[in-house]
Amino acid sequence: MVRPQVLIIGGGVAGLCAAIVCERARVSWRLLEASERIGGRVSSRTVDGCTIDHGFAVLLSSYSEIARFIDWDALDLRALRSGARVWTGERFCGISHPLVHPAGAVAGLFSGLLSMRDIAALLPMALGAAWGVRIPDPDARSGISTEQVLLKRGVSRKLMDSFFRPFFGGVFLDPTLGYDAAPFAWRLSLFARGRATLPRRGMGAISEQLRRALPQESHSQVLMKCGAQSIGSDQAAAGWAVTDAAGQIHSAQQVIVACDAHSARKLLPSLPARRWCRTVTMTWRVKTSHCPASLRRPELLLDGTGGGPINHAVSPTSVWPDYAPRGESLVSGSVVDPNLCELSDAELESRCRTQLEGWFGSTVGEWTHVATERIAQALPRQHPEDLALRPSMRHAAGLWIAGDHVSDGSIEGAMRSGRLAAESACEALRGT
Ligand SMILES: Cc1cc2nc3c(=O)[nH]c(=O)nc-3n(C[C@H](O)[C@H](O)[C@H](O)COP(=O)(O)OP(=O)(O)OC[C@H]3O[C@@H](n4cnc5c(N)ncnc54)[C@H](O)[C@@H]3O)c2cc1C
Repeated sequence: MVRPQVLIIGGGVAGLCAAIVCERARVSWRLLEASERIGGRVSSRTVDGCTIDHGFAVLLSSYSEIARFIDWDALDLRALRSGARVWTGERFCGISHPLVHPAGAVAGLFSGLLSMRDIAALLPMALGAAWGVRIPDPDARSGISTEQVLLKRGVSRKLMDSFFRPFFGGVFLDPTLGYDAAPFAWRLSLFARGRATLPRRGMGAISEQLRRALPQESHSQVLMKCGAQSIGSDQAAAGWAVTDAAGQIHSAQQVIVACDAHSARKLLPSLPARRWCRTVTMTWRVKTSHCPASLRRPELLLDGTGGGPINHAVSPTSVWPDYAPRGESLVSGSVVDPNLCELSDAELESRCRTQLEGWFGSTVGEWTHVATERIAQALPRQHPEDLALRPSMRHAAGLWIAGDHVSDGSIEGAMRSGRLAAESACEALRGT
């Protein structure tokens, strides 16, 4: 094999975007992916004719990095309704985006979820997030928690617990509101300016499109089932030598480590240990004719009681019927409480079903369980003390770190980190 100029370790969206940047800069590259599947955490699989995403995830239309790499139209995106419906313990109450669904927002004022104090606190936040001149920086950190900021702004405990905690608990996969207020502000602005969308063929279509943007036959290549085991300096060739699981050595002048935080630390033990947020997503199928009416709307449903185990639920087929065979609907429910995630599959499934029966009635008992996605390392935790541990992109001369643990824990953050690392590697090559 010809020695590439840049070696990329990891074929998630960060690594794939890094390879695309190298390809566009006419810099030769090789990408090593440990697993047999491209895309890392952005992937989908098919179970009994149903598309099962790797945990419930959405693509925000307000992401800006993605436009550099993805053809939006080819993804065939459809949006969920902006806002959510919150289970109060007795009924669902709607909270809508005032600019997208003004009538729903007005109805929400009388739902009992919002007090006059909440409206006064939310209005400046919503207007600033939607129309503020400056979009918050995705990599910023404030040093204070989201809970502190919401309290300071005057948001009531009731609204925090019934709406903010489950909604952003689903976004950060963290039920605590302890995440840093800066990534929260960035996300609030993205939700205010855009829509949460799903691709017709599942979230994995994003990674597949990135893979297709890379040439299949050329001197540069993607090597699957080729995990990196160690990185050492290659003094003879002025660069780095990466040994893979089969003992083969890959030498390159520039190396980008684009793995998740845990795998990156195995290769580079001086990287800080990061704490993780975990999740379990369960999916059931039901005949569409028997599907409760509130699940036929493309809308996020939240557990506003905090009782769980499901924090947020959605019917992906309400957005794209193509997620299931004709005449069938899918319902997915995600658990984010780390203690509940510890329960066995059978215990968790039974508890989720009981919860959903409370929401939709006894017909839930007839639903068929299709899949359980158990993801222990779903997102790097983003509390103020965690963000202080974010590694810098440059690890050593010619050795770069990319991935969502370097930037924000999102598709946008991962892509951005991959692009910046690859641009730096290409720039360094030009200087040699
Ligand atoms: C359930 C869930 C829901 C999410 N929801 C959203 C959402 O709604 N919106 C959003 O924007 N983001 C969401 N995210 C976050 C987003 O998916 C991640 O931030 C992003 O995919 C991280 O990409 P990455 O390339 O940094 O890492 P990864 O996707 O983890 O990719 C790393 C790759 O490196 C490979 N690898 C590891 N070790 C080695 C090695 N030694 N050698 C070679 N290869 C190696 C792995 O196999 C993997 O393919 C969600 C994540 C999860 C899990």
